[in-house]
Amino acid sequence: MALRLYSSLGRETREFRSLVPGVVRMYVCGVTPYDVTHLGHAFSYVQFDALRRYLTFLGNEVRYVQNITDIDDDMIMVSRRQGGRPIAEIRDENDAIFRADLDRLNVLRPWRYPKATEHIDEIIETTRRIIANGAGYEVDGDVFFEAARFPRYGQLNGVTLEALAKRENPESKREHKKRGPLDFLLWQLTEPDEPSWDSPWGPGRPGWSIECTAMSMAHLGEQIDIHGGGRDLVFPHHENEIAQAETATGLAPYCGWWMHNGMLKLDGVKMSKSLGNLVLARNLMAEFEPDHLRLYLLSEHYRADADFHANLMPGLLPRYERLTKAAQLAVGEADGGSPLWQAVTERLDDDFDTPGALGLLDASAARILAGSADAGEAAVLKSVLAILGFAFAGARGPATGDFSPL
Ligand SMILES: [Zn+2]
Repeated sequence: MALRLYSSLGRETREFRSLVPGVVRMYVCGVTPYDVTHLGHAFSYVQFDALRRYLTFLGNEVRYVQNITDIDDDMIMVSRRQGGRPIAEIRDENDAIFRADLDRLNVLRPWRYPKATEHIDEIIETTRRIIANGAGYEVDGDVFFEAARFPRYGQLNGVTLEALAKRENPESKREHKKRGPLDFLLWQLTEPDEPSWDSPWGPGRPGWSIECTAMSMAHLGEQIDIHGGGRDLVFPHHENEIAQAETATGLAPYCGWWMHNGMLKLDGVKMSKSLGNLVLARNLMAEFEPDHLRLYLLSEHYRADADFHANLMPGLLPRYERLTKAAQLAVGEADGGSPLWQAVTERLDDDFDTPGALGLLDASAARILAGSADAGEAAVLKSVLAILGFAFAGARGPATGDFSPL
């Protein structure tokens, strides 16, 4: 069976084929580094790490790009609250914490790790192309994308423009200057205390969504295979990214598979900074092994809305111990033709069903520890756990990219 993945665009599961056979161009939206890593981040990045590893195992060279949004409204707000502290300082401090947390979770570092502030030229150039192609307009130093000019606007969300216009929208700024309610900023005039760059439209800074479009195209080219991120980014961020990229380049689709992870709740309530109910990955890793946390995160399907509660991690301990003990009994090479291997990869090929795959491995671990397993089964179990990124099974560590030290 070949790998099939669900795409939010079209809401269907299709056989995965990259544009260039053997190379997978994958972009995952990174964090805005103004705060610490919570469990929702860990869920998203561990899921995409495991998928990236599986794609690599299938024989692909995976070019995994993840960005740093180091200039946006949130970064400016935090800088102001800290008495005008330089944004680069806030970014570097939080990024070091974020990366240390992901390193401990054995998340491979990206192939490229671009910062928005280092791509201002590409952002200006993409904005210029959008204006030249008839979908961008300037009003006194602000440049907007005119959503009505892009016929496929709304397709990713699968609803009408009228329905989209009623949604909560962080792009509802400068309403009085817009031609339409769904128009969004490509470039914006800056306040006197905001960082700003020269542009053909005067001094300003980028809009939010144009940053990811410009960084993705700069590092991966004008069309990519997989774009990942949390489901909360589907509107407006990813809808805007499609409109921008396809208008700038004239090529469609910009991305073959839009993959969105579900949202993590705590005791049934959405985890959010404003509610003060964030669970921090580092606090959990102070109490439990990072692989134990990885086991929890991968035991949820990436598209599911998972509900975390305090006794989940202790409850997983027997499973975690069974898997580690069974992996220790591995001898020799894993047999790729064995029934367990076939069954597990069938689960992973079905829209990356990690809970299903781990369920098969749980049963296998029980057989191995009871002495009733087939010969060589422990080697298969260990190999599959390594593909999913478990360090105890020998998965490679986080040193892929070449970017600045922590
Ligand atoms: Zn993004």
